[in-house]
Amino acid sequence: MKNTGLLLLFILISITSFGQFNKYFSEETLRLDYTHAGDAKNEFFYLDELIAEPFWGGSKINLIDNFNYGKYYFEVYDKESDILIYSRGYSSLFAEWQTTLEAREVSKSFEETIIFPMPINPIIVKMYSRSWEGELLKQTEYDIDPNNYFIQRGLRKEYPVYQALLHGKPSEKVDIVILPDGYTKDEMELFKQDCDKFAKVLFDFYPYSEYKDRFNISGVLAPSEESGTDIPKDSIWRNTLLGSSFYTFDSERYCMTTENKSVRDAAANVPYDQIYILVNSEKYGGGAILNHYNLSVNSNKQAGKIFIHELGHGFAGLGDEYYDSSTSYNDFYNLDVEPWEPNITTLVDFNSKWGHLIDDSIPVPTPDSTIYYSSMGVFEGGGYSAKGIYRPKKDCLMKSFDGDTFCDACSESIVKMINFYSK
Ligand SMILES: [Zn+2]
Repeated sequence: MKNTGLLLLFILISITSFGQFNKYFSEETLRLDYTHAGDAKNEFFYLDELIAEPFWGGSKINLIDNFNYGKYYFEVYDKESDILIYSRGYSSLFAEWQTTLEAREVSKSFEETIIFPMPINPIIVKMYSRSWEGELLKQTEYDIDPNNYFIQRGLRKEYPVYQALLHGKPSEKVDIVILPDGYTKDEMELFKQDCDKFAKVLFDFYPYSEYKDRFNISGVLAPSEESGTDIPKDSIWRNTLLGSSFYTFDSERYCMTTENKSVRDAAANVPYDQIYILVNSEKYGGGAILNHYNLSVNSNKQAGKIFIHELGHGFAGLGDEYYDSSTSYNDFYNLDVEPWEPNITTLVDFNSKWGHLIDDSIPVPTPDSTIYYSSMGVFEGGGYSAKGIYRPKKDCLMKSFDGDTFCDACSESIVKMINFYSK
């Protein structure tokens, strides 16, 4: 009886949530582009433009994001009733740039985008930024009438789509859109093969291996003028569709793009939850930012692990568990605040993290001794810092490519996110 009751309750909640979607939204996307500008200490949001795109790839049930991940967060309120109808956490390249030495000297601006299902009635969008103390502080808000005729409608750049994996409706699956950068028209067949390759490699790794039926993967057949990507230090510059480049923030392997509008224009050809950019290069590199985009090269011998590691950042909000001095960041984390990433801790609020995954016999913090290397624990070193930040296991795909597995904290976080998007 109890189970029947629970099932009924679940069905009721599902119907109510689904009803909420249809009450407030239609099945398109409203894309809000803005410029994020400032320096190491200051930030400003400038509204750029609104675009109504034809598909919505997100859940119709999980509209409110309670993960508390990301440097930023936005909320969408129904204007008339003041009811919160959608929210999402995310991060951006601007946030990372703010921690570089350059940001202490000059001001810069970056293109950014938030997307949400197309509202039927007027809304208020509130934008928040996380302070050094870890609190989300409101920065600005926008009053938007979805019937405003200045909202551009339709695709700005239309391309054919290659379906690498299709398991069901976009609202009930994790939808990954793969975008090519540095593949010419003659290399579109190679891009399709790469989509198939990565659609296969993703499920070679646990926990993705157990959830293959929860994913849709498509590729947008969008060619570039030239093959390859920019490598500034070698004076190599390529005219590519999405403008990717190695040496982002002067870190050789950090391959990213700042041409956000080009990325979103291409992605809009399909319903999507996550954008994955494949760069046609055999040089080691990639990068990813939570709910912004993921990027990996296609043909480095480590490309499969780069692909899976970066998706950990962009999709599941995982932090880097390594702590060598290979990044350009300074003081990335405040050691007096618990970081929002689920797989690193400053011990300020460790109870909110992976304590439930550690055996009682394991000391916290965990000594760097071989007897603990196969156990879950709390090992010092992570988040680009050798001291004061701790990680869940000696090794994990978020730390190095020596092994083939995620630690239990990372796996658990990935499963939670799969469920969030596919229910
Ligand atoms: Zn991990």
